Amino acid sequence: MRANDMNGTSKSTPGLGSKFGRVPLVPSYPTGSLDFLHALHNGKEQHEGIAPSAVTLDVMIVGAGLGGLSTAIALARKGHRVRVFEQAAKLGEVGAGIQIPSNSTRLLIKWGLEPLLAPRVVEPTNIRFRRWENGDVIGNTRLVPHFRENFGAPYYVIHRAHFHDVLHQQALSLGVEVVINSKVRSYDASKPSITLADGQAYEADLVIAADGIMSAARAVIHDGEEHKPLRTGFAAYRAIVEVDKMRQDPDTAWLLENPGLNIWIGDGRHVMTYSISGGNSFNMVLSHPSTSDPATWKQETALGDMKAEFSGWDKTLTKLINMIDSTMKWPLSTGSKIERWIHPSNKLLMLGDAAHAMVPYMSQGAAMAVEDAAALAEALDLIDHKDDVERALYLWQDVRMKRTSQMQEASLINGTLWHFADGPEQRARDLAMRQEVEGKSFVSSPNQWTDPTTQRWCYGYDAEQEVRAAWEIRAETV
Ligand SMILES: Cc1cc2nc3c(=O)[nH]c(=O)nc-3n(C[C@H](O)[C@H](O)[C@H](O)COP(=O)(O)OP(=O)(O)OC[C@H]3O[C@@H](n4cnc5c(N)ncnc54)[C@H](O)[C@@H]3O)c2cc1C
Repeated sequence: MRANDMNGTSKSTPGLGSKFGRVPLVPSYPTGSLDFLHALHNGKEQHEGIAPSAVTLDVMIVGAGLGGLSTAIALARKGHRVRVFEQAAKLGEVGAGIQIPSNSTRLLIKWGLEPLLAPRVVEPTNIRFRRWENGDVIGNTRLVPHFRENFGAPYYVIHRAHFHDVLHQQALSLGVEVVINSKVRSYDASKPSITLADGQAYEADLVIAADGIMSAARAVIHDGEEHKPLRTGFAAYRAIVEVDKMRQDPDTAWLLENPGLNIWIGDGRHVMTYSISGGNSFNMVLSHPSTSDPATWKQETALGDMKAEFSGWDKTLTKLINMIDSTMKWPLSTGSKIERWIHPSNKLLMLGDAAHAMVPYMSQGAAMAVEDAAALAEALDLIDHKDDVERALYLWQDVRMKRTSQMQEASLINGTLWHFADGPEQRARDLAMRQEVEGKSFVSSPNQWTDPTTQRWCYGYDAEQEVRAAWEIRAETV
């Protein structure tokens, strides 16, 4: 076991087991006191070369979404053979923009994606919370240069289709086989094998289901129990505004000048906005309460319904909403409590939205799938024998379940913090965010992008290091 080597020759950050006694790689309490040591030994995050693991597997991934392709890249970089089966006839992504926070970009940069991402991303300077009624700034997170400086990686926004294409290109260049038109109809977790809708069956050492929030594999892993995601009472309209229209109106043109994220928050609702496609498109997500069954929603009336939801809000915002030509209403769900992601055969597992769907209020759903991917590749990299695959998988599951359930919780908490009706809680929240708006120092904030404790946990998280640390702790206790 490489992690048993406590003399600083293991793959983990060396130097923490010094003559002063053993210091945990990742302390169990929130602290930044060891950051300088990690920086000393790891340096800045950069593209790491491809190095095969001691144990390499034949892996099949079901689903070529952002989670499936990230997993394909992370595993192929470690020398595993990877095939991805996707049901769609054409690869792509639904919806417009997506945020790629620093905890995710750090990994993507390590995977060598920066040259592909750079021409397609926007790096916003700030995230500004605005009062629903008049657009006044009530919260402010400085992203540039703070996130690069403090978390060693940028905070990006991008068009989903571009993000998907970047992952797809990288997966192909690593030799991953991506097979479209391949709906998986059934799993045999004991072999493991998959059978496609056309009857073709395929076997491998490990099957990874990255089949999204409506995952069919989830029930297979749980002996038929579905563990359906839970409705939250919220839905979102997703839309794009033409930037030419915005430029013609001085009330909206300024939103394009400094690339930033702006979120209007009010009673039960919020609107998230930012530029994508190198500034050529403007992305909007409009969250609102909706308890009715999505099967009853009529996309034909969505545009009018959306405008009605936000009538009486800030003039700039309502002008923007009136510039939207078409929209789609989307249910917002959160994953139900799931006790395992790995089938008892230890040859089938799930990750991404299949395992831990969350409301998008921390903008971390896909980032969690990227972390899942990196952590899985890292866990499998720590073993020397095929017999230890099971150990690596359970270590991965433990680390990832903790992280993603906390992120689900943080996302739901934003759904409370952002949605207060005007009144004492809203006033106390806005007062508590005033320091960050005025550029003063502070130790806490209701803005989870800014709150120092949340920031560190959310964006400073290193998915690979967490796995290595957990492996070392386990090695000590065995
Ligand atoms: C409004 C909104 C805004 C969001 N904003 C952000 C954000 O800013 N940042 C962020 O990180 N996340 C964000 N998210 C979350 C993010 O979109 C998801 O977490 C992420 O896309 C999940 O990826 P996935 O690969 O796990 O699942 P999916 O994207 O659902 O991919 C699953 C894939 O599996 C395929 N598939 C399913 N069943 C089968 C089968 N039987 N056989 C073969 N293929 C199959 C599907 O066709 C699909 O391609 C947002 C979500 C929403 C709704």
